[in-house]
Amino acid sequence: MYCLGIESTAHTFGVAIMEDSGRVLSNEKVMFMTEEGEGGMIPNEVAKHHRLHRDEVIKKALDTAGIMIKDIGLVSFSMSPGLAPSLVVGMETAKDIARTNKIPLVGVNHCIAHLEIGNLMTKSNDPVLLYASGVNTQVIAYEGGKYRIFGETLDIGVGNFLDSFARHCGLGFPGGPKLEKLALNSGMKKKGEIIELPYSVKGMDVSFGGLLTNLKQKFDSKKYKIEDLAFSMQETVFAMLIEVSERAIAHTGKKELLLGGGVACNSRLQEMAKIMCKERGAECFVPERQFLVDNAAMISWLGILEHKAGVKKEIDEWDIDPYERTDDVEVIWR
Ligand code: AMP
Ligand code: MG
Repeated sequence: MYCLGIESTAHTFGVAIMEDSGRVLSNEKVMFMTEEGEGGMIPNEVAKHHRLHRDEVIKKALDTAGIMIKDIGLVSFSMSPGLAPSLVVGMETAKDIARTNKIPLVGVNHCIAHLEIGNLMTKSNDPVLLYASGVNTQVIAYEGGKYRIFGETLDIGVGNFLDSFARHCGLGFPGGPKLEKLALNSGMKKKGEIIELPYSVKGMDVSFGGLLTNLKQKFDSKKYKIEDLAFSMQETVFAMLIEVSERAIAHTGKKELLLGGGVACNSRLQEMAKIMCKERGAECFVPERQFLVDNAAMISWLGILEHKAGVKKEIDEWDIDPYERTDDVEVIWR
C-alpha cells in the first residue's frame, strides 16, 4: 500500500510517497521565503504560497515515485501543531485526494512524526528525542502511553533564535548554517577560550530571549569578532540543549538519544550529543538531513503507523489543531 503524506505546518509544503513497508519512494518540498528569509513569516502569505505550489509538488512526488494518483491507498496530513492557515492548505489538499480516490485519511502530529521517522531511519527504538527546529525546541520521550515533553523552550525556538541573531548581524537567512561556518573560523577553540554568555536552563526548560539581547548588544558594541561570538554562542546554546537531553535520559533510564529538526544538522551539536551519549553509555542517532528538517516522509510514515493501528475517522471528521501538544496524542501504535 502506498501512502501520500502532506506536510504544511509552517514554511515547508511537502509531499511524500511511502510504501507501508517503510520504503520512501519520493520526498518533495517547496519552502516559503521572504527577502529576509523566514523573518516575516506572515501566516496568510505562507498559506498563499503553499496553495500556489501544491499541485506541482504533488505531481513531482508522483513522478519521482513512478506511480499515479489512483495507486495511492492512504492519505495523511500534518494536522498539528502549526500555523492555522498553512495547516488548512495541507488538510484541504489531503481531503480532496482522499475523497476523489475514496481512500482513508489520517491527520498526524508533526512533532511525533519527527520522532517516528527517526526510529524508522536509524536503529533507535525507544529514544529521547532532542527536537531542535525553527519554531520548536523540545525534549520528548515515550512514557505511559504517550510521548511526553520532558523539557522545552520557554520562549522562542532555537532555530528562530539563531536566525534572529544572524539577521541582526546582516548574515541573511537561514542563519544557523552561516553561524556554524563562522564559528569554525574562531580562534577561541584552539586557545580554550570562550566569551561568557547568559546560560539559561530552568529546571528542564531552556530560554533564549535574554541571550539573544545580550548577543545583539555585544555585536553592536563592535568589541567582539563575529566568529568568536558565533563560536561562544554555539557552545553555550548547545550545552543548554544537551544538558536538558542528558537529564531526560537520566530520569527516564532510556539508552538512546535521537536528533530531529533543522538545527540538528549542525555538526557541533551532533558532536556534543555524541560525546554526552558516549559518557553515559547511551547511543546517539542522527537521521540524514532530509529526514531532520521538515519533510513529508515523516507525515506519510506516521500516517501509515496510525492507520495500521486502527486510527479511523470519516474524512469530514478530521480537522486541524494548531495548538495540540505532543502529550495530547494517545499513542496506540507502539
Ligand atoms: P526546521 O524548522 O526544522 O525546518 O529547521 C530550520 C532551522 O534550522 C532554521 O532556523 C535554520 O537556521 C536551522 N539550521 C539549518 N541548518 C543548520 C545548521 N547547520 N546549524 C544550525 N542551525 C541550522
Ligand atoms: Mg519540524
